[in-house]
Amino acid sequence: MDLQALIRDVPDFPKPGILFRDITTLLANPEGLKIALDRLVEQCTPLQPDIIIGMESRGFLFGVHLAYQLGAGFVPVRKPGKLPRAVHTVEYELEYGSDRLEIHQDAIPEGARVLIVDDLIATGGTAKATAQLVQQSAGELIGFAFVIELNALAGREQLPQVPIVTLVQY
Ligand code: 5GP
Repeated sequence: MDLQALIRDVPDFPKPGILFRDITTLLANPEGLKIALDRLVEQCTPLQPDIIIGMESRGFLFGVHLAYQLGAGFVPVRKPGKLPRAVHTVEYELEYGSDRLEIHQDAIPEGARVLIVDDLIATGGTAKATAQLVQQSAGELIGFAFVIELNALAGREQLPQVPIVTLVQY
């Protein structure tokens, strides 16, 4: 099945000049959703993660399913001020200004094999920042998985040298 055909292109969102790849149409299609999740599970199984990290909020949609199917735990990475206990924080650059992401300091057991999951990699800034949160924790980063990769932005070149799973490339 062609997953790309189920992803909707939305011009000028969230601002003029940006072509947004909208996954809500993929999520709403029963067959497409099943195939996307099954392919992620299949391609991530050999990595044998103990912990899946998903980034707020679209990383949650795929991360929890992956964790359940692989017998791993799920750990959320969240926008500032959302997590109730002590956090590690990372600040990263956006096109205009900067943003922060947080993870609970006690979320990743020492030596755990950690796989980072999100819906899409564009510039790689979000995934790179999340990798830095893993490095502040006691876990071992073993890979990344994305439903969509925007090749032209070369985001994967920002990431540490670990396996990267992607299902749909533009
Ligand atoms: P990056 O940090 O790699 O530049 O951007 C990736 C992050 O922004 C991901 O968390 C992703 O959810 C979001 N994002 C950026 N562009 C798009 C897009 O076109 N479609 C979707 N679904 N998410 C996007």
